[in-house]
Amino acid sequence: MDIEESFYRHVAQTSDHPMGLVVDRAEGPFIYTQDGKRYVDFISGIAVSSLGHRHPAVIKAVQRQLDKHLHVMVYGEFIQEPQSRYAELLTSQLPPQLDRVYFVNSGTEANEGALKLAKKHTGRHKFVAFNHGYHGDTHGSLSVTGRDVYRDPYLPLLPNVEFAEFNDMNGLEIIDEDTAAVIMEPIQGEGGIIPAQKKWLREVRKRCDEAGALLIFDEIQTGFFRTGSLFAFQYYGVTPDILCLAKAMAGGMPIGAFVSSSEIFEGFKHDPPLNHVTTFGGHPVSCAAAYATLSELLNGDFADRALHIEQKVKSVLEHDSIVEVRGRGAMLGMELADEELTQQVVEECFDKGIILGWTLHSNTLVRLAPPLIIEERLLEETLESILTSVSRNS
Ligand code: PMP
Repeated sequence: MDIEESFYRHVAQTSDHPMGLVVDRAEGPFIYTQDGKRYVDFISGIAVSSLGHRHPAVIKAVQRQLDKHLHVMVYGEFIQEPQSRYAELLTSQLPPQLDRVYFVNSGTEANEGALKLAKKHTGRHKFVAFNHGYHGDTHGSLSVTGRDVYRDPYLPLLPNVEFAEFNDMNGLEIIDEDTAAVIMEPIQGEGGIIPAQKKWLREVRKRCDEAGALLIFDEIQTGFFRTGSLFAFQYYGVTPDILCLAKAMAGGMPIGAFVSSSEIFEGFKHDPPLNHVTTFGGHPVSCAAAYATLSELLNGDFADRALHIEQKVKSVLEHDSIVEVRGRGAMLGMELADEELTQQVVEECFDKGIILGWTLHSNTLVRLAPPLIIEERLLEETLESILTSVSRNS
C-alpha cells in the first residue's frame, strides 16, 4: 500500500476533504512534496512555524537535547534543565505577576489547565466566554468555544458557561461574583481574525477585577510576535491573570503552557497534592526547542517584521472583490465577497503552490499567516499571485 492509500484507509480523518499534500520535507517558508513540487507555506502550519520550517537554531537545540535525555519522569518531579531555563527566559519577558509556567503538550491542554486553575483558586465554577471564540477541542476547551455547531454534537459539556458578544460593552454584566474566569482570545483567530477593541478589553479587565474573576488570555495563536508584539496583551496594555500559549512556542515541536502567578498556582499544590499532573507536559526536547525559538525571536526584529507584513499585505491586496483585509501583524484574514470566490481563490493558489486556508468559523475569510522570516521578494510575489487569483475568479 502506498502512503496515500494508507492515509485515506487507516489514518482517522477529520473531514471528507483533507488538503492531502504528500509531504516530503520542509525548509524555511517552503514545504516540498514527494512529487517534487514546492509550496509556499503562507499559513505557517496554522501559526506555528513563525521562524519557518526547520530553523537551524531549533534543529541544533533538538539534536543537543536528543543526545542528553528524552522523557525521564512525569511533569513536576525532576529538575530538567530545558524546562527551568525556558521558564526563566519566558517569565523574564513578562510582567512580574506572570512568574510561573506550567508546561503541557498543546493549546487545548493549556486552556484546560487554565480553567481548572481558575476554579481551584477562586472556588467558583462559572466561566464567561465569547461568541466565535475558539479554545480547542477537548471537553473543557470546547465548553468555552463560542460556536454551537461544534458544541452541539457533544452536549452536555461543562455547565455554568455563559457567552457574551465580543467587543460589546453592554454584555459585560454577566461577569459576576460567581465567575471563576473570563476566557478569551485578544484577537479571535478561528472566529474570523477579529481584534478586540482596546477600550473594550480594558473594560473586560476592569469588570473582572470588580467581580473577583480571573482573566484568561488564550494567546495560543496570537503569541510569539505573530501580531507585532511578543504577546498581544502587551499591545493592548491589559495583563491577564493566566496566559495560555502553544503553537509557535517551540518552532514546530509540540508544547503548550499556561503562565500565572505563584499565588494562583498554589491551588495546584494542595487539597489534594498532585491535583493536576501530566506525563509528557514540558517534554525536554520540546522545551529545548522552545528556548531556542524564543531566543531567536528575542534577538531578531520580529515585531517590526510582523507589522511590516501587515502593512504590505493590506496595501497589495486591494480589489473590488476583497471586502476587507483585517487583523494585526502577520495574523491576517482576507474577507472575500462570497463563498464560491473564496473556495476558488484558495484552490487556485494551492495549484500554483501557495498554501492558504480557512479559519474554522468562516467560509469567506482566507487566512494569511506567513512565517515571520519570509523574505520580501517571496512575500511580494506571493501576494501578487493571490491578487491575480482574486481578479481572475471575480
Ligand atoms: N486556542 C486557540 C486560539 C487556537 O487557535 C487553537 C488552535 N487553532 C487552540 C486553542 C487549540 O490548540 P491545539 O490545537 O494545540 O489544541
